[in-house]
Amino acid sequence: MNHEVDIVIIGAGAAGIAAARRLADAPLRVLAVEAAPRVGGRAWTATVNGMSLDFGAEWLHSGARNPWAALGSDLGFAIDRRRANWWMQYNDLGFSPEEQEAASAAYAAWSEGLAAAPDDCAAKALPADGAWNGYIRAIASYVSGAELEHLSGRDYAAYDEAADAENFRSPEGFGALIAAAWPENVALRLATPVQEVALTPDGIALSTRAGSIRAGAAIVTVSTAVLAGDSIRWPNEIGDWREAARRLPLGRNEKIFLEIVAPGFFEDDTHLIGNPRDPAAAAYDIRPFGRPVIECFLGGASAAALEHEGPAASSARAIDELAGLFGADVRPALRPLAATHWGRDDRIGGAYSYALPGAAEARADLARPFDDRLFFAGEATDPRDFTAAHGAYASGRRAAEEALAALARQRK
Ligand SMILES: Cc1cc2nc3c(=O)[nH]c(=O)nc-3n(C[C@H](O)[C@H](O)[C@H](O)COP(=O)(O)OP(=O)(O)OC[C@H]3O[C@@H](n4cnc5c(N)ncnc54)[C@H](O)[C@@H]3O)c2cc1C
Repeated sequence: MNHEVDIVIIGAGAAGIAAARRLADAPLRVLAVEAAPRVGGRAWTATVNGMSLDFGAEWLHSGARNPWAALGSDLGFAIDRRRANWWMQYNDLGFSPEEQEAASAAYAAWSEGLAAAPDDCAAKALPADGAWNGYIRAIASYVSGAELEHLSGRDYAAYDEAADAENFRSPEGFGALIAAAWPENVALRLATPVQEVALTPDGIALSTRAGSIRAGAAIVTVSTAVLAGDSIRWPNEIGDWREAARRLPLGRNEKIFLEIVAPGFFEDDTHLIGNPRDPAAAAYDIRPFGRPVIECFLGGASAAALEHEGPAASSARAIDELAGLFGADVRPALRPLAATHWGRDDRIGGAYSYALPGAAEARADLARPFDDRLFFAGEATDPRDFTAAHGAYASGRRAAEEALAALARQRK
């Protein structure tokens, strides 16, 4: 066989890193090819004004069983196991305790009805004219990035069912932790976008601007938006996989960071939701780890607005909202610091995958290997922890195992 490498990994995000770690000590030639100039993909800790800010993945969900937690500890990262403050409404601002109780009860009732929603459409599990429908839409947009009309009830319910209440963080950043897990003994080409994947008589060939790469097998970890899109030319034979990817689009989730530039404003590690009746409400994580920053989390419509209007307009809206809740004197204490643009990044194309109504099975369709040559990984393919970085990890390991078994069969 005339291959330069036995297994090529396309994409070095969480799934590609997990695959590389599984293959690192195998007696094989392994190469990872990554379009970006860094590893980590949707996990990215940027250092801004000396602060480690997670632009993408931040929380180690289902922390006790999250493989990144143990790995992070091994790599010397601190893991903060305190309970997440997502349900806290600081000082009950704009959201009385009675309203919070009613809204949580409405959300719980909606989620209980999801698995049996008519046409598997999450919007159809909403009560007609429910007082808290806006709140339910906002919370669901943080989890899925999608409008409920386009969201599979069964898929969302399955994620909810799998997740537990333990959510950890690392002060050094989850993105930094994931990037640090790259195994140094695996060859890596950064800033090398794959332009074409072609089948050859005995394997696959990748085209890149730096030349072609022939391999026995490939582990494909690109996002569903990239797999379904046209930045890479794919062989016609994987049409069914690309159709599965189309049925698992990426939702819209983005973050805006506001710097707190004056002392004495806001309390450490506090949280609130802006307008709990607004489907496009932002959620505010205030002074995380005591840092002078407010992280505004946007989902669905508000993330799409950031994408279309740009960070200045969205930051101004967030500052207006905070001034409405905390008082006008906070206004001069806040300055726009940074904003993400996952939806506009051609290498990613959104936040995390959700299933269209009726498409929960597409995850299993996407996870199938093609012809012992192409092995599909990435968060969207995990049967349990899809959307999240620990699901991406599990999928990378699974695909690496499949590729190893296929190569062993071929060599018999
Ligand atoms: C705003 C936001 C918040 C999030 N919060 C959390 C959270 O708190 N907790 C959590 O667990 N998860 C969170 N996630 C989701 C988590 O980041 C993803 O599930 C996970 O990182 C996906 O990893 P992956 O390897 O499947 O895909 P990716 O990270 O997308 O990796 C795929 C890689 O393929 C590369 N690639 C693309 N095109 C090409 C090409 N042509 N050639 C070569 N390489 C290519 C990309 O550059 C990328 O590095 C969040 C995501 C976002 C966007």
